[in-house]
Amino acid sequence: MTAESPSAQGPTAQGPAAQSPAGASSVFAVRSPATGQVVSEHPVHGAEEVAAAVARGRRAAAAWAGLGWSGRKQRLLAWKRSLARRMDELASLVAEETGKPVHDARAEVLLAVVHLDWAARNARRVLKVRRVPSGPLSAHQRALLGYRPLGVIGVIGPWNYPVYTPMGSIGYALAAGNAVVFKPSELTAGVGEFLAASFADAAPDCADLLQCVTGPGETGQALAAAGVDKVAFTGSPGTARKVAAVCAGSLTPLLAECGGKDAVLVDADADLGAAADAVVWGAMANAGQTCAGVERVYAVESVHEELCERIVRAARELAPGTQYGPMTLSGQLDVVDRHMKEALAGGARAPLGGPESVRPPYVHPVVLVDVPEDSPAMTEETFGPVVAVNRVRDLDEAVTRANASAYGLGAAVFSGSRARGLAVAQRLDSGAVAVNSVLGFAAVPSLPFGGTGESGYGRIHGEEGLRAFAVPRSVTVRRFAPYADLTSFATARERAERAVELGRRIHARI
Ligand code: NAD
Repeated sequence: MTAESPSAQGPTAQGPAAQSPAGASSVFAVRSPATGQVVSEHPVHGAEEVAAAVARGRRAAAAWAGLGWSGRKQRLLAWKRSLARRMDELASLVAEETGKPVHDARAEVLLAVVHLDWAARNARRVLKVRRVPSGPLSAHQRALLGYRPLGVIGVIGPWNYPVYTPMGSIGYALAAGNAVVFKPSELTAGVGEFLAASFADAAPDCADLLQCVTGPGETGQALAAAGVDKVAFTGSPGTARKVAAVCAGSLTPLLAECGGKDAVLVDADADLGAAADAVVWGAMANAGQTCAGVERVYAVESVHEELCERIVRAARELAPGTQYGPMTLSGQLDVVDRHMKEALAGGARAPLGGPESVRPPYVHPVVLVDVPEDSPAMTEETFGPVVAVNRVRDLDEAVTRANASAYGLGAAVFSGSRARGLAVAQRLDSGAVAVNSVLGFAAVPSLPFGGTGESGYGRIHGEEGLRAFAVPRSVTVRRFAPYADLTSFATARERAERAVELGRRIHARI
């Protein structure tokens, strides 16, 4: 597939002489994936500018710490209210840069706002100093566990959900007491700048707490190498490996949110109407460019045919350009095309669409059936409005196939019995599972989100998402002199040995 779409082509240097106000030596253009028109231009920040931003962030983090839990919460909620009030403005920008419909972009902003609200309101509860049991051996000690912020977090974001996805790191990192330097995707740089500017407006006394640096992958690489205290990366597994290699040089911790190949398992007694509706939305919304989007379906034999018919009927009604937008990244058109062709060459059928569905910059809905399990359409992230619906003997086989993936991000189970659905969910090797819906977990801020294997490691959202941006600090306070102080040479040897022997006997029995 050689067709070239007019979509964003990544950073376009506009000439070395151009000097941005931020001190960068060149600028790049963000283009509308739908029209190819330039939406905006942004500076290409190099290593020097990125290092300066990190240094400013470090000073800002110290001031942020001084505000305490309630001062930080107050400012984060002010920012949240401002994002909610400016939803239309932000959603229009997201729509322009990604091509997605404005109503989808509005829903994305709402999700980000809900998470920011939760992080702001729960940070103190999750991270404040609390007493923990000290145990019989250390009964003379009071044991306290608290969390301190890491310092400056480097957030590197993707383009597919340019508000919701990075905000899962930014909001939680700020709530945990850190400063953030954010490198948005070069396809959605304007959204990144909007987020930083809107925070500065909402919290004018917190200068440089959230900064945005713009540019291509090299800018992200510079951020990973700039001495930040943690990198929170969202993007493809290939890029995650490069970021991990840079982080390894300085032992900088990394949180990696990568792609997925999510499966939906459909039981014989499932509500097929609900399952088909959810599969079509999960696979086609955002033109299939969703990390936890539906790419594989495993339906038990007895309902496979009817499910396929329902999926095809619903997917056929979708109009690209109305319900979903163009492919944001033109290069992805080739991936989608290759996956379909290899699947069909391997014996799959396409009851809806096929290679002719790729009409740049759009891909019309495609449903594949009986796709060989070793075909790239089943093993690699397709990231387009394509869904493969395979038949299985029973739910056991569905679980085995779902778990055979190198990815482990999300999954869904449709069953007539919620208890059976829940039992199957416990057997799936994925970070999150929705029973009788798709992606239900993404809108619940108290649930952590993240994957395993090619889907990355670490968690955003929820309590784990706050702790991801903090470091535990363990403290003991001696309350009285113990019977035998084992940390003193002054303790009589006999007494110390008696205490150790007593401990040994107890643990040998319990
Ligand atoms: P990508 O890997 O191409 O780029 C992600 C970010 O990394 C961009 O900002 C890019 O400029 C930057 N980057 C590129 N090279 C770099 C380097 N060498 N060092 C540092 N940074 C570098 O991914 P993408 O195309 O922007 O996003 C799509 C991918 O993101 C898909 O795989 C999708 O599944 C995944 N994703 C995952 C989640 C999740 O939460 N798990 C959410 C959204 C998207």
